[in-house]
Amino acid sequence: MMPIGENILGQFHSVYLARARDKEILERKVASGGAVTAILTYALEEGLVEGVVASKRVKGFEGKAIVARNKRELLEAAGNRWSIVPFAARIKAKIEEEDLREVVIVCLPCQAQFFGQMRDFPILETDFGNRIKYIVSLFCMGTFAFEAFLNYLRVRYGVRADEIKDIKLSKDFLEVHYDDTVLAIPLKEAYSYLQTGCLVCMDYTGIWSDVSAGFVESEPRWTVLITRNTRGEELVRGAHENGYIDLRDGTHVVGEVLKMAREKVARAQRNMAQLF
Ligand code: SF4
Repeated sequence: MMPIGENILGQFHSVYLARARDKEILERKVASGGAVTAILTYALEEGLVEGVVASKRVKGFEGKAIVARNKRELLEAAGNRWSIVPFAARIKAKIEEEDLREVVIVCLPCQAQFFGQMRDFPILETDFGNRIKYIVSLFCMGTFAFEAFLNYLRVRYGVRADEIKDIKLSKDFLEVHYDDTVLAIPLKEAYSYLQTGCLVCMDYTGIWSDVSAGFVESEPRWTVLITRNTRGEELVRGAHENGYIDLRDGTHVVGEVLKMAREKVARAQRNMAQLF
């Protein structure tokens, strides 16, 4: 079992705070800083990769694998935020279907582990692993068991799946945006509908990625970036040097990220004790 300490953030090279410099990206992503989208734009425009691949929530809780090959497609795919869903097989299938030779995968920590192992410790499918150039993982506290959560929203709050436009985490509440209304559900209440795998998941930041990205409350409008190796460091620094992002030191927010990571580990330990 992973100890509760610095190791729960995994190995890292640097911690930064970053923000997109492109006005169009910034306008869409004011709250998050848009650094992930800006870095992906850099990777596409500089020809570092052929495509960006992610499995994204498209409506309600439906998810599908998407590919973006230029900034326009990236902005369409990302919308005003990256709502990633934990489907790994669909991403793999998409990369193979479209015969993409070099990609960035934007994913959640559990997917980062799957793809990181396929790339760095391949057993059989070396051809597939070689196609993964970068793995960018978003911080994650959990995703919901679709059917059970939708049923609960309908029965308890009268909200239908096809009405849901977005779901966001906001301090101690889960905000469900539907029609022109925002329903704030206390996190404690919503947590009982997390997927079982999430209840025992201990990785908050995506320790298998090249770059982890997320937010802290003390630095609104900035994206926290954790680079984990030379590959991730070069990607982030390249985006900065080529004018795609503003970048500053983020060492002072490590404690905040660590606090969330510890909460996730503690939750997993509690749940494991109950489950096993
Ligand atoms: S909590 Fe863990 S298992 Fe669940 S979606 Fe996030 S990274 Fe994946």
